Amino acid sequence: MNSLVTGGAGFIGSNLVDGLLARGDTVTVIDDLSTGKEDNLKQAVEQGARLQHVDIRDAEAVSQAIGEARPDAIFHLAAQIDVRKSVADPAFDARTNVEGTVNVLAAAQAHGVKRVVNTSTGGAIYGEGRQIPAPESHPVAPEAPYGLSKFCAEQYCEIFTRLHGLSTVSLRYGNVYGPRQDPLGEAGVIAIFCGKLLDGGKAIIFGDGKQTRDYVFVEDVVDANLRAAESDVTGPINIGVGQEKSVLDIVEVLNEHSPNGFAPEHAPERPGEVQRIALDPSRAREQLGWQAKVELSEGLGRTLDSLR
Ligand code: NAD
Repeated sequence: MNSLVTGGAGFIGSNLVDGLLARGDTVTVIDDLSTGKEDNLKQAVEQGARLQHVDIRDAEAVSQAIGEARPDAIFHLAAQIDVRKSVADPAFDARTNVEGTVNVLAAAQAHGVKRVVNTSTGGAIYGEGRQIPAPESHPVAPEAPYGLSKFCAEQYCEIFTRLHGLSTVSLRYGNVYGPRQDPLGEAGVIAIFCGKLLDGGKAIIFGDGKQTRDYVFVEDVVDANLRAAESDVTGPINIGVGQEKSVLDIVEVLNEHSPNGFAPEHAPERPGEVQRIALDPSRAREQLGWQAKVELSEGLGRTLDSLR
């Protein structure tokens, strides 16, 4: 298959590019390298992937890149991912996450792309979990502009499907962790703790450490993307393990991987932080045949190994 990955120089995108190359795809990446790194794609480029420096806010450049690559499928991962930045500058967040997505969808439609796999977030769209694990029908109540812009982007996918027949699906990830992860992302706590564990620095737990998230390993997320591209399912699909794990659980598992012990310090709770969330992955299981395979302990071990 001929695939195009927006945001392919980032943490999840570059892991996806590796997965696509491994199954023999021709791959084009468009990325403005704002948070992504060329280094993440070093091997992929050696294996034939093409990296184009394109800002998804630039409709003409996006259309040109997609017109040249003529992909069968687009995996749209490029986004402004920093929740705090979305609070400080919501207009910038919306330009990237909403307008940028509209540019990708319009170019996909114009150039006859068969399938668009959009990237969304369960962790930031549902807000405080009223039903755990949260199904896709859980009320949408984002705590920050980031969750709202990602939800809005999903809605644009659905409008393009209804209006123009463009085949789209939105994968609502839990908190993704694994090799190449950046501390800024939604599962930043894992990147930060792994870094501290290895360099002997002091890790900090904000609040009591009982706040929960649905941590999903990046390799499982790549598998979900490959399955979503092959299917014709539309609308939102949760991609999570379906289990709540607390910050204290992560510390406990990291301790098993740490010969010298790992004892973070506590600091006051940060306002506006969701206390509990996990995603119900039933729809992914039923409609994509997907379920998470990598357990937290194995995933954390592999994340640590990648940083050594
Ligand atoms: P990342 O920052 O590593 O990847 C984002 C990529 O998008 C980067 O390579 C960046 O350079 C690129 N980008 C940003 N703005 C751009 C623009 N204007 N034009 C072109 N490229 C641009 O973050 P990630 O964690 O790999 O996130 C990938 C996707 O997954 C995002 O859509 C994010 O919202 C979503 N997501 C991530 C998580 C998580 O836990 N990491 C959870 C839910 C959803």
